[in-house]
Amino acid sequence: MRVVVAKHAGVCYGVERALKLAGQAAEGGGTVRTLGPLIHNPQAVAALEDAGVRVASSLDDVAEGTLVIRSHGVDPAVITAAEERGLDVVDATCPFVRAAHRCAGELRDAGYAVVIVGEADHPEVEGILAHAGGEAHIVQRAADLPARIKRRVGVVVQTTQPPAVLAEVVAALLPRVNELRVCNTICSATEQRQASAAELADEVDVIIVVGGHNSGNTTRLAEICAARNPRTHHVETAEELDERWFDGASVVGVTAGASTPDEQIRGVIETVESLTGDE
Ligand code: SF4
Repeated sequence: MRVVVAKHAGVCYGVERALKLAGQAAEGGGTVRTLGPLIHNPQAVAALEDAGVRVASSLDDVAEGTLVIRSHGVDPAVITAAEERGLDVVDATCPFVRAAHRCAGELRDAGYAVVIVGEADHPEVEGILAHAGGEAHIVQRAADLPARIKRRVGVVVQTTQPPAVLAEVVAALLPRVNELRVCNTICSATEQRQASAAELADEVDVIIVVGGHNSGNTTRLAEICAARNPRTHHVETAEELDERWFDGASVVGVTAGASTPDEQIRGVIETVESLTGDE
C-alpha cells in the first residue's frame, strides 16, 4: 500500500514564521506570552508552553516580558499599548496580512469607502478594520453590501477568502460606483491546500486530513475531501487512526491544514505505514 502526501499541505509561510519568532523569543528567556493561541493546533500550543511560551487572552494578562503578536495581526493600538507598558513586542504578523493592513490604510487616506471582504468576528478582519480607521463595510457576500454606499469604493480582502467571493462582491459593486479600487490581498496558501486536497481525494482510496479539530482551515479541507471521497477522516494526531479505515485500500492520501506542524504529519504517515504493514 502506498501513502501519498498532497502537493501543498501543512504549515504556511506565515505560521511557520510566527512559530520561529516565538521560539527565538523563548530562547531569550524571561516571560513570553502570545496574544491568543499562536496556532489552532492544541499539540503545537502545548509544545510552545513546554518551551515557556504561554497564551494570554488579553493584554491585561501580560505584566512583563515579551508579547508575541500572531500571524493574524492586530489593531495597531494594541502594539502601542503593549509598548507603553514596557513589553518587548515581537510582531509575527504575516507579511501578507500586513499588505492588507497597508491597503486598508491607503484606501482610507485616499477617501474611499472601504469594503472588507471577510468574517466580521475574525481577528484578522478586526486588525484590517482598525487600519481602515475603524470605518468599513464588512461583507461575506454581495448580499451583505449596504443599500447606500459612496461612489468611490475601495475593497480589501481577508487573506483566506475564496477568490470567487471577492469576484462576486466586485461584480456587484461595479455598476453602483464611479470608481472602484480593489486590493486583492488573498493569499494563495489556502487555495493551494484546498486544490491539492481535492485532487488527492479523487485519486486515493482513503484520505486522512491532519490538523486541530479547532482549526477552521483544516475542517474546511476535511469537508472538501469528504465531498469527493467518503473514506475521509480528520485526525489531530496519529493516536486517532483506526486500522479498520484502511481495509482493502491500496493508496492512502494525507493532507494537512495550514496550522499543522510537520512532525504531526510525519507521525500520521509513519503510523499509517505501520498499521498497513508498509515500511
Ligand atoms: S494563510 Fe497566508 S496570509 Fe495567512 S498566515 Fe499563512 S501565509 Fe500568511
